[in-house]
Amino acid sequence: MNTSTTMKLCKSSSTLAKTDRPVIIAGPCSAESEEQMLKTALGLQKLQGLSVFRAGIWKPRTRPGHFQGVGTVGLEWLKTVKQETGLRTACEVAHAKHVTEALQHGVDILIIGAHTTVNSFLVQDIADALQGVDVPVLVKNPVNPDLMLWIGALERLHHSGIKDLGVVHRGFSTMDNAPYRNHPKWDHVVELRKVLPEIPVYCDSSHIAGRRSLLRPVSQRALNLDYDGLMVEAHYNPALALSDAQQQLMPQELDMLLQTLDYNIDDADSARKGAQLEELRKYIEHLDDELLDLIARRSRLSAKLNDYMDADTIEAPQVVQWDHVLGDLLVHANSAGVNKEFVQTIFQEVRKHYAQTYLYKA
Ligand code: PEP
Ligand code: MN
Repeated sequence: MNTSTTMKLCKSSSTLAKTDRPVIIAGPCSAESEEQMLKTALGLQKLQGLSVFRAGIWKPRTRPGHFQGVGTVGLEWLKTVKQETGLRTACEVAHAKHVTEALQHGVDILIIGAHTTVNSFLVQDIADALQGVDVPVLVKNPVNPDLMLWIGALERLHHSGIKDLGVVHRGFSTMDNAPYRNHPKWDHVVELRKVLPEIPVYCDSSHIAGRRSLLRPVSQRALNLDYDGLMVEAHYNPALALSDAQQQLMPQELDMLLQTLDYNIDDADSARKGAQLEELRKYIEHLDDELLDLIARRSRLSAKLNDYMDADTIEAPQVVQWDHVLGDLLVHANSAGVNKEFVQTIFQEVRKHYAQTYLYKA
């Protein structure tokens, strides 16, 4: 992979460069009204280190009928927020028309959402619309844990001349996300940084956590891993929020969170190693689960075969030589680099346990 040499990203040229404290990007999940935007922004303006106000204008929703965002009028409200607070503004764009409208309304930073990063047609459409435009773009990880897809999106933008690129880690959709809304898979970001060491990385704690109680551990973990900043959803009254109500904080709650995080991390390297170890351990647990599941499936099939054997009307399945079965397994074990004696022991035990002696001739 030669991405790191072709994409000469430089943190120091990022307009969102981290100083001694991480960059904080905050704002409501969705723009809902001018009043909601202003009340929230004025609350956030007082927070130390807050540099960007975010709000979703167009919302990707799983099913129709849910709040899809207010659309273009929300861009006017973002403009008002900028005028009233001096904060830079950011919103998600999902295709070229969004890009044109956001830029026309003076949005400072564009975000490519997780549901867009997965679609190379849309990313290319956005990249084409950004040819010759000098605007920072933050690319969220794709919904599915596919590192190359994430890197590919960055490459498309880079080829269009976007130099000020950053990534937002918002977690992944996996087989089992518990206890998160989106599994962080921290190791993925460690890997991404190996390929693109200079890319600024922001943690979207809200979409990883999915609930307020997990925002602190997720945010702290990101700081321990030396992330460049945090993105946190905030609303002046989360109970009224039209999307993601359960994960948004009031500005004063966000203030409290930011004040009580530990910023004196002196060993990001060992935190990184820790993250890798934890991912590996999780992966082994996942494989153990799969092993168990396979054994259960095999046992159900054995039972089914036994039923066939018992029914007089049905011809018995063909009896096969156990020696041949085992022989094939051992050849497979050899090519897979697994110890043959170990494989022999396991399969003999499995066979014995399910007593299929009449399916296999000894
Ligand atoms: C959001 O930021 O509100 C959002 C919808 O994000 P994501 O693309 O991470 O789902
Ligand atoms: Mn949201």
